Amino acid sequence: MEKCDLTDKIIELKEKRDAVILAHNYQIAEVQDIADHVGDSLELSQLAAESKADVIVFCGVHFMAESAAMLAPDKIVLLPEAAAGCPLADMISVDELLSLKKENPNAAVATYINSSAAVKAESDICITSANAIKVVNSLNADEVIITPDGNLASYISKSTDKKIIAWPGYCITHHRVTLDDIKLARENHPGAVIIVHPECRPEVVANADKVLGTGGMIRYAQETDHEDIIIGTEEGMIHRLRKECPGKRFFLLSSSLVCPNMKYTNRQKVASALENMEHRITVKPEVRKRAVDSLRKMLAVTSVKGV
Ligand code: SF4
Repeated sequence: MEKCDLTDKIIELKEKRDAVILAHNYQIAEVQDIADHVGDSLELSQLAAESKADVIVFCGVHFMAESAAMLAPDKIVLLPEAAAGCPLADMISVDELLSLKKENPNAAVATYINSSAAVKAESDICITSANAIKVVNSLNADEVIITPDGNLASYISKSTDKKIIAWPGYCITHHRVTLDDIKLARENHPGAVIIVHPECRPEVVANADKVLGTGGMIRYAQETDHEDIIIGTEEGMIHRLRKECPGKRFFLLSSSLVCPNMKYTNRQKVASALENMEHRITVKPEVRKRAVDSLRKMLAVTSVKGV
């Protein structure tokens, strides 16, 4: 099918199904370009909750569609590619978290939004890369279990007096970036500012100029006087940043910053999702209730619009 035909078909199916298309910042360019909204996982889940549409097509990975389904339980949430998972989210099971809680009975559990609904349900509160430090410092506990991302836990530990008990998970994409990538980027682009995601290794975070989540990267790029910006997160962000800040130059910190799971979705799969109403993502009500509590507690701390 021709490029325009496919876009026309998606627009037609979107109307027929009364659907909205949400795409994560890490999606491929053609998916970002046909989406109604592009953003990070929390922004998109909140948009899903606020949307008047009957159907949400979530172009991202499984845990994101699951969060949208939990925050918008009256809507049909579709993930165009069923195999799009998140290796980081899969690095801790409910049983493993329950054992860790048993070993540390006085610790609160703060779970990264990049996790399954079942793990969120066993947690006291959720965190994102943008609000993690604020949320952890707000907890009425001296010890905090951070799961599943050990690199994020290390980043938080530098800005809190609480004892951090880190689960040793990691994002396979961000973990590939090394200190040599930072050194090379400084040689190749002297004067450029280097921004990395807190999912990167501690030594990479320590040697970057800024540590920000994807939403923070966009705001920083819009506001800074720097014209050359090196981005240490998944490469889909470069497309988004170039669109948001056309006068600036963006460079990827490492060519290894590609998340295969984020690249499975394309326009053809979006069209098929709308045509066949697949793959529907649901969360069991008993899990949903407890997981949403963890999300709501986080939103209360960060003053983000509630759900
Ligand atoms: Fe998961 Fe990392 Fe891919 Fe994000 S970039 S979906 S955290 S593996």
